[in-house]
Amino acid sequence: MLEQNKTITKPKVLLLTTGGTITMLKNTNGALQPCEDAASLIKAIPELSSLAEIEILPIVNIDSSNFTPSEWLKIAKAIFQRMKDFDGFVVAHGTDTMCYTSAALSFMLQELNKPIVITGAQVPLEEIGSDGRSNLINAVRVAISNLAEVVIVFGSQIIRGTRAKKVSAFDMQAFVSVNENPLGTIGLSIKYDDSAHFRSKKKPLLRAFLKDDIAMIPVYPGIKPQIIDYLAQSHSGIVIEGYGAGNLPTDDNINIIPAIKSAIERNVPVVVCTQCILGSTEMELYQVGRAALDVGAIPAMDMTPETTMVKLMWVLGQTDDLQSIDSMMQKSFVGELHEVK
Ligand code: ASP
Repeated sequence: MLEQNKTITKPKVLLLTTGGTITMLKNTNGALQPCEDAASLIKAIPELSSLAEIEILPIVNIDSSNFTPSEWLKIAKAIFQRMKDFDGFVVAHGTDTMCYTSAALSFMLQELNKPIVITGAQVPLEEIGSDGRSNLINAVRVAISNLAEVVIVFGSQIIRGTRAKKVSAFDMQAFVSVNENPLGTIGLSIKYDDSAHFRSKKKPLLRAFLKDDIAMIPVYPGIKPQIIDYLAQSHSGIVIEGYGAGNLPTDDNINIIPAIKSAIERNVPVVVCTQCILGSTEMELYQVGRAALDVGAIPAMDMTPETTMVKLMWVLGQTDDLQSIDSMMQKSFVGELHEVK
């Protein structure tokens, strides 16, 4: 028989607000900008408090286009300090740079024993047809579930933080999981993939290392090699988004290999990822990729450009030894790449 009077304690969720469309309002020019009282918009969603005891913690209140690595650090530290006090965490965030933040939190908060869920909206909470309400409710559902990873919850997808990519500026399914299945899907119920990591007795680690002066540039037909020289003189590391399997221009006045070589000689690592949405670098395949490998460029394999850039920042925050950088970039720490055995 059910005990009468037994108090049911709800799980505790910390909801960190950072700005983004989800809590934006239109200004007098009709343009969206962060609303000053994001918390009151969120408190107007009754489903959230029926799911969990929610505490709201404002971190910043900006369009995510204005995010810098220092905001990632603020979020990571705020979560880590309160790790023991909550059953799960939700970060409300703009969609534009959400996958950079999700990658950064994945590298900085490891050995997780509870979920950190990032979500946002294409349409502000205050507007008709907003996806913000359902995204927030689903984010809290995932935050009180058995999962123990940094994920993006958006539309019907649960995506590992290092595998997410924003692919639509319009669609409510704005993100995809790149080069691996989504960690879960939200439909009639929430279903997780076998590869998801679940709650355990792990002890979370804060690995808040970031060297923030990393440059990223795609190659394009007619690129001037001097751009790479400039980046090498002004940055500690460079990510080049190559064509296809990591291919780069190598002929005559568009040959960027000498600039890559001299960057590496100055101890500025050069990592090459693919500008394709899907697939991996395979730089041995064509001479135009091999030429960069031969001078010491590091292949990003199947990491997205966003994750490659954030990971290079995180790795360079720990070492400036080129050999260690090379091996760390090609090792999987949080499921960000498929290692070549
Ligand atoms: N510009 C907005 C942001 O990233 C877009 C969004 O949230 O959907 O903050």
